[in-house]
Amino acid sequence: MLKSIMEPSSIAIIGGSSEIQKPGGKLVYNIKNHDFKGDIWIVNPKSPSVQDLPTFKSIKDLPSEVDLGMITVAAPFVKQSLLELIEKGVKGVIIISCGFGEIDEKGKKEEQELAEIAARANIPMIGPNCMGVATFKYAGVFAGPIPNLKPKTIDFVSGSGATAAFILELAITLGVSFSSEITIGNSAMIGIEEVLEYWDETFSPDTSSRVKMLYMETLTKPQKFIKHSRSLREKGCHLVAIKAGATEAGTRAASSHTGAMASSDTSIDALLRKAQVIRVQSKQELVYTAGILESYKPPSGKRACIVTHAGGPGVMLTDELSRQGFELPKIAQETHDKLLANLLPGSAAGNPVDFLAAGTAENLDFILESLRNEDYIDFIPVIFGSPGLFDVWPVYKVIADKLPDYPKPIYPVFPSTVTAKDAIDKFLARGYMCIPEEVNLGKTLGRIAAVPSTRQTERKFSDIDENAISSILKEAEGESIKQLKAEKISSILKALKIPIPFEAIAKSRSEGQEIAEKIGYPVVMKVVGPVHKSDVGGVYIGIKNTQEMESALDKLMQIKDAEGVLFQEMAKGTEVIIGVSREEGFGHLIMFGLGGIYTEILKDVIFTLAPLSCEEAASMIKSIKAYKLLEGVRGKKGMNTEMLADILLRISFLVQKFPQIKEMDINPLMGYEDRILAVDTRIEID
Ligand code: ADP
Ligand code: MG
Repeated sequence: MLKSIMEPSSIAIIGGSSEIQKPGGKLVYNIKNHDFKGDIWIVNPKSPSVQDLPTFKSIKDLPSEVDLGMITVAAPFVKQSLLELIEKGVKGVIIISCGFGEIDEKGKKEEQELAEIAARANIPMIGPNCMGVATFKYAGVFAGPIPNLKPKTIDFVSGSGATAAFILELAITLGVSFSSEITIGNSAMIGIEEVLEYWDETFSPDTSSRVKMLYMETLTKPQKFIKHSRSLREKGCHLVAIKAGATEAGTRAASSHTGAMASSDTSIDALLRKAQVIRVQSKQELVYTAGILESYKPPSGKRACIVTHAGGPGVMLTDELSRQGFELPKIAQETHDKLLANLLPGSAAGNPVDFLAAGTAENLDFILESLRNEDYIDFIPVIFGSPGLFDVWPVYKVIADKLPDYPKPIYPVFPSTVTAKDAIDKFLARGYMCIPEEVNLGKTLGRIAAVPSTRQTERKFSDIDENAISSILKEAEGESIKQLKAEKISSILKALKIPIPFEAIAKSRSEGQEIAEKIGYPVVMKVVGPVHKSDVGGVYIGIKNTQEMESALDKLMQIKDAEGVLFQEMAKGTEVIIGVSREEGFGHLIMFGLGGIYTEILKDVIFTLAPLSCEEAASMIKSIKAYKLLEGVRGKKGMNTEMLADILLRISFLVQKFPQIKEMDINPLMGYEDRILAVDTRIEID
């Protein structure tokens, strides 16, 4: 659908001029001077020629086969231009002109009308208020630097023209190439999601770029976004994105811990994780990550061997790789000895391999050949700056020559961007990116390695009583209070096959006596009614005998809104929380983390968008800081993480089937290896 915009055969620029300080002039200049192979037609009633190109007085006078129309005229004339271009049979339009939705509501209506006109004509429309589009076919942007445009490199879509330009400034200095730069402006018709859809639907392993770079300010169709980004991942692509404006100041009203902790940023985070997009925060992180993925390969494993000619950067990179969870295995004795025998005296052949400031191209060649088939090494960062005394190109050439078919990824770090500029430029001319900073490299590799695998297994349940849950929820729909009652919650958990402690409700001392004896002391007693029980002194743990039970019961029944007292068997073990919060437009976020009464203070939690795959459930559990507690530490028993994953998947099943669940907390789930119990659950529906 976007072909005429990505690869136009001819371009008509409405409002193209000779003034290259203005968008209409600069656009003509850029397209004309960057190797566009098709025809460029300018519509300008005032001058007979523009930048040596013939002009047309009106759109009506254009040749009939105009492919792409680019509109740069003032806002009041845009609609007429669009209509006339459509009449001419144009296949796609880019509206550069501003003065629409970015200004006011009236502008918003006007741009919606433009989108409707384009939709009726069945043509794609980019903009308005955009900087244009540049691809390896044409440089159709009016601002910012024009990057090296080359097929099969990086596709870049940006929700902001100015930001796109600044990102390119950085990318160009590092030698990163692009196959497209698409600025979408106000996205009246085509937004980030539609561009992803286009990339997905037209993907070809032979001609498409495998790295997609995104700068987003709004993301209005989360499900569409996920669908196409995951599909692109399955086709072998990597996606890297900044989502700006994600943090939300202030808190919101929520009755559950999960609802209180879910912010718009957690939703975005969960969305991007689900979409298997690498989320970054800065321009530098964006360019490093996309550039490294494009120029080099992603690390194929966790084991690195650092090769350096200077101690300091080698140590800094060692530190960062360790922080990112990589390993630096010892070099095999035989290889180690061989290296030492052939390198300059004083070299080190541990890991890092340090071949000294005077190390030569031959030395580096020897090292890389010695490591070529060492199967305990997955990738090799090579650090080589310049002392300024000799030309380092021969050293860089060794890397450039080996890169195309060396069996492991090599990541060159060239810190001397001033002293060794000529050598670096020669290296960049071979189509590789320059990585000047080793710690950034380490962080980037960590980020790349953290992306979940594309394999996602769905868990099917045959033991869940859906009908029972359905009728409980139906019953509750008629009630005015949207917090489900304790008995209903217990029934739902039973139908879901999530274990709960033995429990019953008492309203009097004699009922209490009977229940406590059935459970067996010690028991737990909780007020029924108030939502946050601990806050009102409504939880007694370890009640040992009748006397304690009776005094607790009296106190609990005196609490405001008390309807009764819930007796429970005493559970033991680590406390975790599983929760749900439904987010407008996103669906249900499922939260897992450290539970108990301090959950909201410690905030050691992770959110993932439902539905969960088996892999996602397992990785959520592993990702919290307290995971070591779940494994068991210092003689303390751990918690059965497979059972936890099973419970997470059952909750995911629940909210998929019953979207009326608005918020839910199981806080805490308590247990050890053999048994995990949901001791406190609240569910809110609407
Ligand atoms: P609330 O969250 O409303 O304050 P909870 O039922 O979660 O009430 O109880 C508060 C704390 O009491 C829990 O975090 C847990 O430490 C403890 N607790 C609650 N029920 C039990 C139980 N059955 N066995 C052991 N400890 C419990
Ligand atoms: Mg609780």
